[in-house]
Amino acid sequence: MSYRFQRRYTGPVHAVIFDWAGTTVDFGCRAPVAAFLRLFEEESIRASVEEARRPMGAHKRDHIAAMLAMESIAAQWREINGANATHEDIERLYQKFIPMQADIVLEHGKLVPGLLGTMDMLADRDILVGSSTGYSRRIMEGLISLASDQGYHPESVVCADEVPEGRPAPWMAVTSAMHMNVYPLESCIKIGDTVADIEEGLNAGMWTIGLTLTGNEVGLSEEEAENMPEEQLDLLLLRANRKLMAAGAHYVLETLDGLDILIDEIEGRLEAGERP
Ligand SMILES: [Mg+2]
Repeated sequence: MSYRFQRRYTGPVHAVIFDWAGTTVDFGCRAPVAAFLRLFEEESIRASVEEARRPMGAHKRDHIAAMLAMESIAAQWREINGANATHEDIERLYQKFIPMQADIVLEHGKLVPGLLGTMDMLADRDILVGSSTGYSRRIMEGLISLASDQGYHPESVVCADEVPEGRPAPWMAVTSAMHMNVYPLESCIKIGDTVADIEEGLNAGMWTIGLTLTGNEVGLSEEEAENMPEEQLDLLLLRANRKLMAAGAHYVLETLDGLDILIDEIEGRLEAGERP
């Protein structure tokens, strides 16, 4: 018989890295949708909410490129412009998008319910809080100060334009861990509301938790979610849950309320020698 002995991290969770829109602020991840619809409307192109939500979580320039590649949008673009969208077109739209998004983001900057309680819980456990976002720094500046006014100040904010590649690449999550001087990466948990968030965390070698009720996959405002018949909402939550689990999320939560329990469970798995 032959054996190979391996080195395993068996200590506690050191940090949680949160996404922004749909996870810690902007219930329903509505700001980017509004901005994308307005951007395409100004180009005389009709895009649906579903189309605007599909690439969510990516760098916003990549998101614009993904939307331009969608069948119905590409066809409308060709009809108006006589050719497929080029790199220059994508860049022009992105430059137009930034100030548009920066304004809209501030209308959707409210913290999700229970976030400050979650921050207290993490502080009690000596767990650091980092963050990453598909927004650029220019868009984030106003949102960071708005969140700070409401009592949310993560130790680190990494924006999509500060790394070589946005999600699903791991660099934002890895850079946030570096800012906090936290390692190994399996002592970190990445939490977000999109498939791209989960992929970012998995690619970084972190534990991943998907969020549904406040996120892009359910896509409802707080008020809409409250007023929706329970069976209908349950169906949306289930669909979002399955999508994030299928992307490889270790866990999926409706809200951050259950996070404490999941951290206990992850620490149990680490102690037993498991890796994300
Ligand atoms: Mg998000």
